[in-house]
Parts: sequence; structure tokens; C-alpha cells
Amino acid sequence: MITQTSWKDSFVKKRLEKQLPNEIPLFPKRQCVSLVIVREFDSTAVLTTEGQTLDVELVRCGRKNKDLISRVLLQKRKQIAPERRTGRAFNRDLGWGEKCAYMEQMCGKCPDCLIYGFAATSGEGAQRSRVWTDSGFAIRSYEAMQRSITLNAISDTTRGGISGSAFAEREHIRPQVFFPTIETAVDVTPSEFMYILRNILATTRYGAESNRQGFVQNHVVAMLFSRGEVLSNLALTQGVYDRLLERKGENLNEFPLERSEVVEAVLDVLHEEARESYLPVEICAGEELQALLASVRDLWRSEEANEEWLRELENDHRAYLEKLSK
Ligand SMILES: [Zn+2]
Repeated sequence: MITQTSWKDSFVKKRLEKQLPNEIPLFPKRQCVSLVIVREFDSTAVLTTEGQTLDVELVRCGRKNKDLISRVLLQKRKQIAPERRTGRAFNRDLGWGEKCAYMEQMCGKCPDCLIYGFAATSGEGAQRSRVWTDSGFAIRSYEAMQRSITLNAISDTTRGGISGSAFAEREHIRPQVFFPTIETAVDVTPSEFMYILRNILATTRYGAESNRQGFVQNHVVAMLFSRGEVLSNLALTQGVYDRLLERKGENLNEFPLERSEVVEAVLDVLHEEARESYLPVEICAGEELQALLASVRDLWRSEEANEEWLRELENDHRAYLEKLSK
């Protein structure tokens, strides 16, 4: 027996409607929903801006533990760019923004332009991004995750693929590295939020050389409803480090981390942050989040519900563009 799924009556829409605007405001209202994502690399990855070395930053280990540590960075642009590409491929499939050329001639009308923002290239219009992010930081030190780099380079070479090329010399991160990150959607409607969520859940490749490596699982572990950003990615990683160090001691740097431990530590940090926040923060996690994600799954698997959602997204944008033109 197939149960009828609809976007309008879905659990996810009802939950989002409680907190998010039902139309895109012309002026910021700062109604925020943050997606807390644990990004887990399943293969080696090249996280370099240019050249051969990984992007690394010297920072404090934790908020309690003040030792210095070099952490590999997952640059903001390296998180958002592949997700936008996922969205833009989806748009093309739907016949939206077909003339929209990323960074060159952006159309200013498709979901990608209106949600992630665009700069005016030829005179008219511009839109600030309504998805806020920050660079992500690995939990453990750079030294703990670059051990096998030479091995990777050698195996690449022996297979003959890129022998002698500069790529073989590039630094890689090892698999099973976690980046706890937060993407905050600001003043988005429920249908727009779904577009952002889809891009995050459907993107599996990050970093350079991503047709060959850089496979990532994005685990959504919580959603935060608030009137502003709750904490930075660095603060989140530092909070996670403190907790893992308490539990594991020096073993923390010995073996790859276990995802469930990372997720548990992330949730701990979020609850502490919510308790200390001056403004109210609502956390959606655990069973409620699982029910919400199950509802998302049902929705995308139902052709009708999917169309209903996309119609609403189209309407939200049409209404916004009309308001803008007045
Ligand atoms: Zn566009």
C-alpha cells in the first residue's frame, strides 16, 4: 500500500514553516536555520588552494586545551562550489537557468543565483548570498593525517596515471578525516531550504582531482533555529577536540576517529552553546531530526510531491522577482 506523500502536508515543511518566512523578504529579517554537518572523507583528498601543500592554519587545540596545533582547512569556497554545481546540474535538468553561466553571465533568476547570490556582471542586479559559511577545520593535527601521503603519490605513479606530473607530489589528506561544519541559511523559505539541503546531501566530491578522489559523506547531525549564527566552525571543532581528548586521552592522535564519537561530541557542543546563548536557539536533533530526514526522503522519492515542492520554489522566486521590480 503506497501512502500519498505531499509537500504541503509533509513533516519537514510543517517543521520549517514554524521558523522560516513564507516569502523571501526584501530586507533582511535574519531568520536563520543552520545545518550542522559532519563531513567525512572516505578517500584521500587534495585540499590545496594552489601548489602542492595542504591548506593549514596554526590554531589552539580546543577551548579548554590551549596547546597549538596545525589544522587542515576545508576552505569555504571548497564546500560551497561543489554544492552549487550539484544544484546547477539539477536546474539544467529542470530547464531552469539554462543561460546562466557561473561567474560569467549569471542569469539572476534561477535558484542558484537567488539563493547563493551573484554579482552583477553587466550592469543590473545583484544578490547577496543567503547561505553563510566559514572554512572548516579538521579535528586532529595536520601531522596525524598526512602520514600516507608519500604512499599515495607512489601508488598513483606505479599505476601509470600521472607519472612524473606535479600532481603526484601533492599533499593528500588520509581517508576518515572529519570536518564539523555549519551552513546557515538566512531568510530562506521552506522550499528554498530544501534546495540547499538537496545540494548538501547529493554532493559527494570535494577538493581538487575530485573525479578521482575526495569522496565525502555529508552527515546532517542537527539543525539550529535562531536569529543569528550560533557558533563558528573553528569553535565547533575546538569544542569537539576538548571532549574527545577528555574521553580518549592521548589516544586521540593514534587511530582514525569513529564517526559516532564525533557526532556525540558535536551534539554536546551544540547543547552547551545553546544553553549559553543570549538569544534563544532551538536544536532539532536525534529522533526529531531523523523523522524530518525520513520525510525528506519520502518527498524526493515521490514524483508528485517533488513536483509540488519545485512548483513552490518557482513561485517563491517569481513572487520575489516581482517585488524587486516594483
Ligand atoms: Zn542563474
